[in-house]
Amino acid sequence: MTKSEALYQEALQVIPGGVNSPVRAFGSIGATPKFIRSAQGAYLYDEDGMQYIDYVGSWGPMILGHGRQEVLEQAISACRRGLSFGAATAAEVEMAELVCGMVPSVEMVRMVNSGTEAVMSAIRVARGYTGRNKIIKFSGCYHGHSDGLLVKAGSGAMTAGVPDSLGVPSGCTQDTLSAAYNDLESVEGIFRMCGEEIAAVVVEPVAANMGVVPPVPGFLEGLRSLCSAYGALLVFDEVITGFRLGADGAQGYYHVAPDLTAFGKIIGGGMPVGAYGGRREVMELVAPLGGVYQAGTLSGNPVAMAAGIAQLTALKAHPEWYQQLNGQAERFFQGIGAILQKLGLPYQVNYVGSLGCLYFTGQAVTDYESAKSSDTGLFARYCREMMERGIYLAPSQFEAIFVSMAHTEEILGRTLELMEKCLGACGQ
Ligand SMILES: *Cc1c(COP(=O)(O)O)cnc(C)c1O
Repeated sequence: MTKSEALYQEALQVIPGGVNSPVRAFGSIGATPKFIRSAQGAYLYDEDGMQYIDYVGSWGPMILGHGRQEVLEQAISACRRGLSFGAATAAEVEMAELVCGMVPSVEMVRMVNSGTEAVMSAIRVARGYTGRNKIIKFSGCYHGHSDGLLVKAGSGAMTAGVPDSLGVPSGCTQDTLSAAYNDLESVEGIFRMCGEEIAAVVVEPVAANMGVVPPVPGFLEGLRSLCSAYGALLVFDEVITGFRLGADGAQGYYHVAPDLTAFGKIIGGGMPVGAYGGRREVMELVAPLGGVYQAGTLSGNPVAMAAGIAQLTALKAHPEWYQQLNGQAERFFQGIGAILQKLGLPYQVNYVGSLGCLYFTGQAVTDYESAKSSDTGLFARYCREMMERGIYLAPSQFEAIFVSMAHTEEILGRTLELMEKCLGACGQ
C-alpha cells in the first residue's frame, strides 16, 4: 500500500469521504486521492515522493506557479507581525485600492474568506439594493455552496429551483430561477414572466465548473441589456476568471461591465480569500455604511492580504505575462486537439486563455446539457493513466485544466507527449 492509500484509509475514519472538499475525492475516476506534501513551480509532490505536473493549481489560485518567492516572502513577513488582529490594517486599504485599480467596474470592495461568501454576499446586496427577491442563475454554473445557489436546475428555465443537496429547505431555493447557459432566450423568457421581481442575474462569465464553456458572442452583452432594461443587477462570479483571463478578468476580456463582481482563488495567492465589489452606489449599502449586514472575524486577514497583494501586484506590473501565459496555453490546448484528431476519437477542446477542457464528445459543448454528452468512462480511464504517468489533472470531467506561468513550453510539450500515449492506450 502506498502512503497516500494508507492516509486515505485513515482519513476515511475521521473525515467524511476522507477529504475536506468533495472535488478532492477521486471516486468519479475510480481511484483514490493523492496526499500532497509539497509543491514547487509547476510540480506537486505526494507523500510517496511521486512528482506530478500540476494542472489544477489549487483550483485556480496558483496562476504564478507554486512557491513564488515574492508571494511567500510577503506572507512570511506578515506572519511575523501577527496572524490576526480583528482590526483595520493598512494591507486592507492597499488590497482594496489594488482591486479597484485593476477592475474598473469595482469602485468599492469588501474582503471575505471564500468565493462562497463572496457570491452569497453579492446576492444579498443585489436584493437589498433592488428590494426584490428572485435571482436567475445558469445550469452548470457553480457559485459556492450557500443554500440559495445550490441549484443545478435540472428543472429547466422558468421553474422554481429544486435544491441540489439534502439539508437545503426548498424555501431557500424557491427564488432561484434557472436558465440555460448561452441561451439568451431562456433568460428573456424569465424576465418577460416576472422581470419586476428579479434582483439579479448571476453568471460565470466563462463557465468553468462544467468543464470550460465560453460565452457565445452576444451572450454577456445580452445579459447586460436585459438587466439594465428590467432594473436588475448583473453579478459576475469571477472567482475563477478574475485576474486569470487578464488583470481585469473576464469583464475586461469581453468588455462587459457587471454591477457587482465576486472574486476568490487568485485574489488570495493561495490563502483563503474572497471579495465582492462593484458600483459605489450599490456597495454603499453594505454595513456599517448601509443596511445590508455582512461580517467576518478573519475577513481581510493580514497574512492572507499579504499573499494576495503580492500576487496581484506582480500580475498588475506585468501585463505581458498574460499574453505569454494565454498564448502558451492556447498552443497547448490546440496541441491536445491535434492529438485527438490524429487518434480519430470524438472530442471537443474548449478554452479561453489559460483555462481549458477536453470533452470526449462529437457535439459542440455550449451548455450543461451538451457538456454531459461527454464519455465520462473514457475520461476516467484517461485521467487515471495520466495520473500514473505523473500528470495531475482534476479528477473529474467537469473541471478545468489550469495552466500557470510556471508551465514552460518544455513542460507543456512533455505533457502532450504523455497525453498522446495515454489517449492512444485508452482509446482502444
Ligand atoms: C470555487 C468557486 C466558488 C466558490 O469558492 P470557494 O472559495 O470554494 O468557496 C464560487 N464560484 C466559482 C465560479 C468558483 O469556481
